[in-house]
Amino acid sequence: MSLQDRRAIPVARMCLTCTYFRPNAHPGTDRPHHCAFVDNPFDDGELRLECPDHQPP
Ligand code: SF4
Repeated sequence: MSLQDRRAIPVARMCLTCTYFRPNAHPGTDRPHHCAFVDNPFDDGELRLECPDHQPP
């Protein structure tokens, strides 16, 4: 896969690639993940795409 192709994949601004993402920071709760930017927990259904606050690691 070329660099050009990689840049075309729209996953760059999602929680899974964000430095603020804390996966499973609250295990056993309804909202196990945590966003350190807004300092709030969230669940799998709230994982964001194209987040304006996203920061690469
Ligand atoms: S800043 Fe946005 S992309 Fe990053 S963890 Fe928080 S909600 Fe997800």
